[in-house]
Amino acid sequence: MENAIDRRLERIVLLEFVLHVVTGLRVGAQDGSFTIGGDENVIIRDPLSNRPYVPGSSLKGKMRSLIERTQGMEQNWPIARDRVVIHACRAGADYDRCPVCSLFGAPAPQQRTYLCQTRLRVSDLFLTDTSEQALREAGTTLPYVEVKAEAAIDRVTSAAVPRTMERVPAGAEFGGRLTLLLYEGDDPARSVDLTVQALELVEADFLGGGGSRGSGRVTFQDLTLTRLTFAPGEPRAERVTYKQTIGSLDDWRAHRDAIVGWAAGS
Ligand SMILES: [Zn+2]
Repeated sequence: MENAIDRRLERIVLLEFVLHVVTGLRVGAQDGSFTIGGDENVIIRDPLSNRPYVPGSSLKGKMRSLIERTQGMEQNWPIARDRVVIHACRAGADYDRCPVCSLFGAPAPQQRTYLCQTRLRVSDLFLTDTSEQALREAGTTLPYVEVKAEAAIDRVTSAAVPRTMERVPAGAEFGGRLTLLLYEGDDPARSVDLTVQALELVEADFLGGGGSRGSGRVTFQDLTLTRLTFAPGEPRAERVTYKQTIGSLDDWRAHRDAIVGWAAGS
């Protein structure tokens, strides 16, 4: 079988969108951990601008994890110093067949061994100019974020132990971009559908920390698509923007067939 790495990159589809924060969003350096009275419930910020941002890895990891769960993929590969287990195919020949690994990529050792391609890239998401200005003018206690107070209830004494966490307030918006690489022989419909399904799952679930306590509901809005097609010997890519902005993932369904055909080059 031809090695995936030898196949020609035929096309790139860029999917730009606005991530709308529906309930306060907490993406921290220590996602998942939550100690009472701890001061690690601090949101991740750009060190230069001090503005909160959403690392692409946070969104991509959440997308992957939800897809793996809906597909019932075997959780067999420990990452993050063994604190997290994800799915990864064990054999090289499986990578192109596996919907998850072929889209989201393989762990580094597998990638080196089997030369697998990662087809989906997720850029870091930054506050839109409008949200940046609105949050700056809101004069929150800490720049750009709210400090949410919660109480942990001691199960024996019923004592309430207060704790706080930083969140990006509801209503804030981030600009995001997904990059979908389509190689010769790829099925654009499979990649596009799985990517959008992953976004739908994130909408249905949550992003960042504290989801079970109400944080992290988001929606994806104002989706625009750009297709870059590369032909051998051509000095420049052909660049085509999809005919319209898609308002929401609900609207996407109405356009799905047209978008998939367009992504395939028609
Ligand atoms: Zn796999």
